Amino acid sequence: MGTQVLLMGSYRLRCLQCGRFVNDPYRLRCGDHTGLLRPEYATRSLDIKKAKSVFKFYDWLPISSTADSNAAPVVFRNERLNKELGLKDMWVAFTGYYPERGAFVRSCSFKEMESLPTMVRIRDKRKGTIVVASAGNTGRAFAQTSNDLGMNSVIIVPERSADRI
Ligand SMILES: *Cc1c(COP(=O)(O)O)cnc(C)c1O
Ligand SMILES: [Zn+2]
Repeated sequence: MGTQVLLMGSYRLRCLQCGRFVNDPYRLRCGDHTGLLRPEYATRSLDIKKAKSVFKFYDWLPISSTADSNAAPVVFRNERLNKELGLKDMWVAFTGYYPERGAFVRSCSFKEMESLPTMVRIRDKRKGTIVVASAGNTGRAFAQTSNDLGMNSVIIVPERSADRI
């Protein structure tokens, strides 16, 4: 059982039970053990980039390029909500569309934090079209990102969610 050390972009996947690296980004286990693989990034500490989106975490994402986006959660303090709840210093983390607060997640789903790096990865590494099965939220986010990046996707949702995609 030779130890393979092959880099896939900025990270590699390691089995914590035997310590071997697995050079296949679509495997969850090493083959001999049941534990999930763990990504080990080339950058040991997180260096936050200047991007306005999830790509600020570039060093710890499985990607080798980014896309232009301002979709990110925002954190703010709302006086009236604090007062209403009888609290003094409650902060709200919000992922959605609220331009007055600087929030531009147009799908209104936190799944856009997933669809952005996923679609960028597909754009850079794979040929073909992603197929997403979803009750609605993931589908909505992938529809948004596919459109923003000019890429195709096949999105399968229940009939009752279809008009919200
Ligand atoms: C994304 C997600 C789902 C799936 O949501 P869909 O609406 O089917 O896209 C379910 N559970 C959790 C915890 C999730 O994060
Ligand atoms: Zn193993």
